[in-house]
Amino acid sequence: MYVKHLFFCNFVSANLLKIFSLIMFKKGTKIYSIINNKCPRCQEGDFFKHQLTYAPKKVTELHKNCPNCNLKYMIEPSFFYGAMYVNYGITVGLSIITFLITSLIFGASLLQYFAVIFIVLVILTPINLRLSRILWINIFIEYEKGKEDFVS
Ligand SMILES: [Zn+2]
Repeated sequence: MYVKHLFFCNFVSANLLKIFSLIMFKKGTKIYSIINNKCPRCQEGDFFKHQLTYAPKKVTELHKNCPNCNLKYMIEPSFFYGAMYVNYGITVGLSIITFLITSLIFGASLLQYFAVIFIVLVILTPINLRLSRILWINIFIEYEKGKEDFVS
């Protein structure tokens, strides 16, 4: 009886998770573009030139236009300066989460908290930089169906 119940619960939760991820991460949602680093308009072309890396010059290097739908990523001059604000928000959020986890698990001193937060922020810098840029452009560009196969 118990095993049967456990099996049923596992089955239900696995399917709910599958349905949830299908709705949340399906093409056409902003999360799809953000998670897969795709163009916000067609969600086919790559946004970044390189894979995730710690090389400072390569980490945020973008294509000039979307390789698929030809959307100009630099909408206006210095467009991605605005990503600084997103980056700031992510940094603050990460710092708070790191502080909470550290204090719950270790209960360290103030200096140790700063050290842990600093290390976490440095390790996650490339992800943070890229995430803030793609979040920033996703605020302004909407997904357009039918732009997937347009090549100019
Ligand atoms: Zn595109």
